[in-house]
Amino acid sequence: MSVPFHGRTVQGWILGPAAEVPEGKLLSIRQVRSPIRFFDRTMLALLQWVSDRYIVPLSVAIQRSYPPRVAGEEAASHVKPVARGKPRAASLALYGGGAVIRSGVTTWLRPLPDEEASTCLEAVETCLASGSRALVLVPEADPLPETARALLDEFGDAATLLAGGDARQRYRTWLDIRSGARELVIGTRPAVFAPMKGLGLIWVSREVHPGHREDRAPYYHVREVAAARARLEGSACVLSSLSPSVETALAAARGVIRQAPAPRAAERAAAPLVETTRGQAEGHSPRLASLLRVAESAVMIDSRTGYGIARVCRACGEPAACTSCGGPIAMERGAYICRVCGARGSCANCGASAFGIERGGTERIAEWVGRMARVPVALQAPGAQTPTPRAGRIVVGTAAMVKDLGVLRLELVAILDPDRALVRPGLRAGERALATWMEAAAWAGPRQEGGRVLVQTRRPSHPAIQALVRWDPMPFLLREAEHRREAGFPPGHPVFRVYGPHGLGQAIRAVFPSVETLLATPVEGGTVCLVVVPPGDLPVFRLALLGLVRDGGVSRIEAEPQL
Ligand SMILES: [Zn+2]
Ligand SMILES: [Zn+2]
Repeated sequence: MSVPFHGRTVQGWILGPAAEVPEGKLLSIRQVRSPIRFFDRTMLALLQWVSDRYIVPLSVAIQRSYPPRVAGEEAASHVKPVARGKPRAASLALYGGGAVIRSGVTTWLRPLPDEEASTCLEAVETCLASGSRALVLVPEADPLPETARALLDEFGDAATLLAGGDARQRYRTWLDIRSGARELVIGTRPAVFAPMKGLGLIWVSREVHPGHREDRAPYYHVREVAAARARLEGSACVLSSLSPSVETALAAARGVIRQAPAPRAAERAAAPLVETTRGQAEGHSPRLASLLRVAESAVMIDSRTGYGIARVCRACGEPAACTSCGGPIAMERGAYICRVCGARGSCANCGASAFGIERGGTERIAEWVGRMARVPVALQAPGAQTPTPRAGRIVVGTAAMVKDLGVLRLELVAILDPDRALVRPGLRAGERALATWMEAAAWAGPRQEGGRVLVQTRRPSHPAIQALVRWDPMPFLLREAEHRREAGFPPGHPVFRVYGPHGLGQAIRAVFPSVETLLATPVEGGTVCLVVVPPGDLPVFRLALLGLVRDGGVSRIEAEPQL
């Protein structure tokens, strides 16, 4: 509806009856904008939780909880009956059976290497057979993850996909879900707010994936919202991942959330054989070459695209650097390009564009493999469609091509330079590297069937490499949790990036003395602070920060920034 507010007409929602009516200050509603009720009491409670947890106005949380309205779709909305086949007998026995679906409880489930889709399917079947509805959240929509495709195939009209499409289609799907026509909703981030009643199961697929974090206000994380919704509605929440986030690993180890492990013997048998070898120049090794000569199908993952990095100018002999920004120059598809600004690479000293290069990267690997492989080699290139790994093909690319592609059973998965991925900056570099390797390694299939993973490393005893070899991520992730705690960012403790004028750091300390970590960085015209808050103190911090916002001492708050 439209309401007058400070002389303007603004959008508003009816939350419910007021506890007390202020005398003489009531104005009339100008216009009812939509006959649709966008949330019920339970959803409002969830949106209030989002507002409190991520320190955003409730109006922002409400506004982002449904797709933008397309008024023309509202009149057409109606409930239609849906026919569905009889559910299959579900087992889930491997993970403790129906106990996985426990009301109000969050569980970390680690599927066997290539069984995420089938495990999810069984869990959804069990849920629907008991008369409840199910919600499955995937981290990306393109290409459609195998887990989503399998569910849509199996449940037909009982299921719908809330992801992608144009504005009209998204709103129509949302209205359709709201009408109660669907028993199963599959979707990306915003679908965590899907207007469903009688939810029995919320399943978060690949919970470690960065796509589950909303990167604009209210900056929520699907994992946290799903768990909160499950608590509020009495549904089960399942976090599914081969290698979980550090947060999930720590919560499971401490018993804060349940875990549903498959028996160790079943895991060992289903895991691929992972061997390590020492990598040589340009990502080669004798072991890799001997495997590639006979492989009919393989995936090779390198950390760099392109053919090589320019090291020295051929004309003047100076170290190569971009004329525009001083950044490193790479050779990609036959041309020199700045890695930082994308400009055509020319020497910052003399302007020449001929360099001595240090070869290495996916293009160089593909060239090398092409000379010895029995099958064609396909290259994943930025901006082009990723070639799907399959029998009769070797695909070379970066971690960006590791997606939920379902069961592939490749003869070889080669991880060419894991050491570089492990020294990347960022709190989550290790967690993400291991999760990506495990998802790719699962494409090799079980060791009894010949599934083989080759890891080229100079640090075979590194805990992340050992996690992959032993198919057990927990020791590494708990070590990562300890490192984060030492760095002042304990897993599970809320983090905020706060923008404001000079002196913001002192201002925050003054109103919130129990701050756990505070890093203040001066920027042009002000200060940016990273603030870590003890979880129990979040309500106090929120009130303190909102006080600073009112006084003009804070201009922007971003929850859970990517660090
Ligand atoms: Zn540049
Ligand atoms: Zn030069």
